[in-house]
Amino acid sequence: MSDTVTQALREAANRLAATSDTARLDAEVLMAHALGVTRSAMLLNHGRSAVPEGFAALIERRLRHEPVAYITGSQEFFGLEFAVSPDVLIPRGDSEVLVEAALAARPDAQRVLDLGLGSGALLLAVLHNLPEAQGIGIERSPGALAVARTNAQRLNLAPRADLRPGDWTQPDWTAGLGRFDLILANPPYVEDEAPLDPSVRDHEPASALFAGAEGLDDYRIILPALPTLLAPGGVALIEIGHTQAQAVSALAQAQGLTARLHRDLGDRPRVLEISSSPPSSH
Ligand code: GLN
Repeated sequence: MSDTVTQALREAANRLAATSDTARLDAEVLMAHALGVTRSAMLLNHGRSAVPEGFAALIERRLRHEPVAYITGSQEFFGLEFAVSPDVLIPRGDSEVLVEAALAARPDAQRVLDLGLGSGALLLAVLHNLPEAQGIGIERSPGALAVARTNAQRLNLAPRADLRPGDWTQPDWTAGLGRFDLILANPPYVEDEAPLDPSVRDHEPASALFAGAEGLDDYRIILPALPTLLAPGGVALIEIGHTQAQAVSALAQAQGLTARLHRDLGDRPRVLEISSSPPSSH
């Protein structure tokens, strides 16, 4: 029987090792959540505390591959805390590269567009770091839009973030949006039949992940719209799957646009920086 937090953490980490690459971390985050304290406070002060009532049930959920972020309802991204639910993709560390590239490309941006808000992580991280900028974000899932609006409120960005229903699979979807200095997008890009971890395939929203046999369906709509959405000197940052750089660059070139590649934390192709003029070298 586990009677202290320290013992319960050890036991839970052992059980989770079969399910998770980050078993010990998962156990700690779930314990802190069950105790209602931060992870560091838990590690500092609660080693000898009694195991909280709900902890075992949280571990059972994780053993069934439910992502930790959905169990706790929150995920850190770019140093900010985002509410998440199963209606939204969990923001990934790899997508922080997209935010960095956007801030570097147009630190002077006034108008920012996010195509497919999900939790709002991309747009809200950019707006947080560009205090003069105004954002518009579109999202077709009502559940996701509600999560993004919650995050805008919590981060005090709602006055600068116009978050609207919108769907690029519908005709005239760009009408009334205007032109933008920065466009951000992490569209669905997974091949329909791709082998995915059960924590992703069975729990994250399929509508945010899958984009046809080659994972390119959404790029085939978004890339042709960029010339009408980019302001002069505007830059689009588009997340891609690591095998898709060539195919998506070709879609950009077909519009007379230039694409420059950024790699993620694991050194894989992850973001295309797309503009109408050749990007300046730096
Ligand atoms: N990066 C996600 C994954 O690997 C996919 C995100 C997406 O399709 N936009 O599961």
